[in-house]
Amino acid sequence: MTDWTRLLRDIPDFPKPGILFKDVMPVLADPQAFAAAITALAAPWRDARIDAVLAIEARGFLLGAPLAHALGAGLVPLRKPGKLPGEVREQRYALEYGEDALQVQAGALAPGARVLLVDDVLATGGTLAAACALAQRLQAEIAGAGVLLELAALGGRARWPVTAPLQAALVV
Ligand code: IMP
Repeated sequence: MTDWTRLLRDIPDFPKPGILFKDVMPVLADPQAFAAAITALAAPWRDARIDAVLAIEARGFLLGAPLAHALGAGLVPLRKPGKLPGEVREQRYALEYGEDALQVQAGALAPGARVLLVDDVLATGGTLAAACALAQRLQAEIAGAGVLLELAALGGRARWPVTAPLQAALVV
């Protein structure tokens, strides 16, 4: 199978000076690498009876849709405030400077639905922890979380708040 990991790129000083950004877009742009990456992301969850993939805006959407399809699951987006119509639930979380929030549509999940959270990159872990809290507020059963890439040096795994597995297709 294609080695998708060779297409990951380091972009220095993005989005701010001093940050080394891992760019996953070249993986998605290559048909074989994209397919291999989704296969790797899906592998731990094939028998996990996932009802819905909860995909985090924005790059989580790009992975979450094919992942949901591969697992025979539905797709529910977790979005930045002001994007989703109707009644929403919101979870705020701290950033290095300031605060952000994720929202989900209030009726998006049946209570007890087994969900898989997905994002492209696990960095400090705040985003995934907030997504987990949001899913719990909808009374979802958290089956786990999947990311394409875990940046181990940033220690985000320590902030994953539940015992359900957090699986990274690649740890760097
Ligand atoms: P965290 O909350 O610090 O774990 O940051 C994770 C979120 O920021 C995810 O939604 C990622 O899309 C984004 N992110 C952080 N660092 C990177 C990176 O190096 N490349 C791509 N996305 C990143």
